[in-house]
Amino acid sequence: MDAKFSYKGFEFNGISEGGIRTSIGVPRFKLMFDIGSIHPDRIHFENLLLTHGHLDHSAGIPYFVSQRSLQKLKPANIYVHESVFEPLNRILKIYSEMEGFDYPECLKIARENEPVELSKNFFFKPLKTFHRIPSQGYTIFEKTKKLKSEFSGFSDREIMQKKIEGESVTEDKDVPMVSFSGDTKIEYVLEHKDVAESKILFLECTYIDEERNVERARLWGHIHLDEIVAYANEFKNEKIVLIHFSKRYSFKYISEMIRKKIPKILSDRIHLFLPERNYVGARRENA
Ligand SMILES: [Zn+2]
Ligand SMILES: [Zn+2]
Repeated sequence: MDAKFSYKGFEFNGISEGGIRTSIGVPRFKLMFDIGSIHPDRIHFENLLLTHGHLDHSAGIPYFVSQRSLQKLKPANIYVHESVFEPLNRILKIYSEMEGFDYPECLKIARENEPVELSKNFFFKPLKTFHRIPSQGYTIFEKTKKLKSEFSGFSDREIMQKKIEGESVTEDKDVPMVSFSGDTKIEYVLEHKDVAESKILFLECTYIDEERNVERARLWGHIHLDEIVAYANEFKNEKIVLIHFSKRYSFKYISEMIRKKIPKILSDRIHLFLPERNYVGARRENA
């Protein structure tokens, strides 16, 4: 049962349960963030952006590689943190031996801040996250052109004239469109401007109440709802999609806590990435 979210031409579907499984697909780029659960309809997505090696995010990799081989699809691009590259290659080699056929090479090290092309107008960059093992989130950027600041007061006609005179009136601007946190402490938002300014931010929020408090969340490299509340002013995003809630909470309880705790400044922008059928009583605002 998938959860869904869409905004500004971006569509996301998948599932995210803290410590159990996380995998979210973006059909537009034939891309998945993590593969802690396997969806047969997403085997043909050729790009997998892995945040870290914990099994609730990575368990589906051998199956994904094997299925693509059997279905004669071209080798996937599986982007990983450099610490994951060698052990994961070993795992894939063992599975390949066990299955009795060769797997293609498909792991690629994605290094912090180094852009990787997705399409003509989009690329992504890994940005450091703050978890218990080496990890990284991913930000997808759109390459746009904006008017140079020196022409900001000009009328359309004046700008047209400048163009006719051969002046270049625009400059390139890379706009952060989507950020995906994987597992992290709140520093992921506080230390990366591109994350805090992404139009859409998929952010983990593993714990939400006092029984598992902020201190404990931080100890385990996670975010507590109270921190999102405390740092509400830092979020410049148009939409913040919360993922990775602990399975100890019911959907109803999550919705109640969000309604109770989230301040007005965030309430219109917060969305819970939960399957619709069980989604009781919370706002459901897909613009
Ligand atoms: Zn996790
Ligand atoms: Zn983790």
